[in-house]
Amino acid sequence: LISRMQPFGTTIFAEMSALATRTGAINLGQGFPDTDGPREMLDAAKAAIDGGRNQYPPGAGVPELLEAVAAHQQRFYGVSLDPTTQVLVTAGATEAIASVVLALCEPGDEVVTFEPYYDSYAATIALAGASRRTSVLRFPDFAVDEASLRAAFSSRTRLVLLNTPHNPTGKVFTRVELELVASLAREHDAWVVTDEVYEHLVFDGAEHVPMATLPGMADRTITISSGGKTFSATGWKVGWLSGPAEAVAAARTVKQFLTYVASGPFQPAVAHALGLGDEVYAGLRDSLQRKRDLLCSALEASGLQLARPSGTYFVIADAAPLGAVDGLEFARRLPEVAGVVGVPVSVFHDDQDAARTLVRFAFCKKDEVLLEASRRLAAAG
Ligand code: PMP
Ligand code: GLN
Repeated sequence: LISRMQPFGTTIFAEMSALATRTGAINLGQGFPDTDGPREMLDAAKAAIDGGRNQYPPGAGVPELLEAVAAHQQRFYGVSLDPTTQVLVTAGATEAIASVVLALCEPGDEVVTFEPYYDSYAATIALAGASRRTSVLRFPDFAVDEASLRAAFSSRTRLVLLNTPHNPTGKVFTRVELELVASLAREHDAWVVTDEVYEHLVFDGAEHVPMATLPGMADRTITISSGGKTFSATGWKVGWLSGPAEAVAAARTVKQFLTYVASGPFQPAVAHALGLGDEVYAGLRDSLQRKRDLLCSALEASGLQLARPSGTYFVIADAAPLGAVDGLEFARRLPEVAGVVGVPVSVFHDDQDAARTLVRFAFCKKDEVLLEASRRLAAAG
């Protein structure tokens, strides 16, 4: 098989989850919570199913979800959107990313992104026939390197694909860093596609700054999010994008021929969840912050150096003390070494030297699962 998708094979998440199932190791690899989201949201999905909302929903999404997404942007960020022209519901954030990249990029265009990057970015850019130009975020502080970011832009830059809070590093981009990205995008007349699926998962009072709220950026920014992360329902695949009407219309055209529509009865349920009180959002965040502390303390006590994340539900540790030399090879052995599964960070890099011995662990798990995983890692160290 020779094609532009050949390098992509099987995603690391599928491989590592299969490894966990096969070996019985604790799965801190693929990021998904092991508890359900708000009860009211689950009940709203049941009511939608029982209420007969089981056929194709409207192409752009059910009206109550389009309105809920617009209301959510207004409530949390003061961003005003017309729900009928500026919001599109997608099959998860994954389809939002694909629709917008395929809609905006022509073969030969360049996409600027940071590495490590979420795996679908590289594959989607390749599907569009575009090429990626990256700037490395380096362990352990993952600060933006201005010189390499500047060098990644060229006259062929069509868009910047940004992710904050950032998977896999747990970094929350600062306003100053975002302003730099914004000014380079303006200078090169590029779109900014910003993946903010972890927008509500920020810790220690860190502030999530949406790119669309920076001066002059609303007109060139497409914002992506997903109910999967905010409401612990990754299997529902309810995502969305919002931004200028012309870009949303272009993404809608592409989306029609990817899935057409998806997740009928789950759309009204996520709409309901978006309108829940601040305490629901804060509850999930606080519980994850505590889980972060629990796993980070245990990893540190086992002598692993780590980058304490200010957002998402991932932490990156340097597994050199556990004998890691090559990340992927080590991750494949980790069930045997420690009875735990993690994800090698090198698979999210073009620059392999940036992450040889780094492993990402997910902490969106029950306390007892995190404690047992910590105990095993400490015994292996
Ligand atoms: N972007 C990032 C940064 C993610 O971590 C994920 C989920 N792992 C996605 C997009 C995809 O989200 P969804 O499951 O809603 O398609
Ligand atoms: N986003 C999740 C992660 O980063 C997994 C998504 C997937 O399996 N594709 O672990």
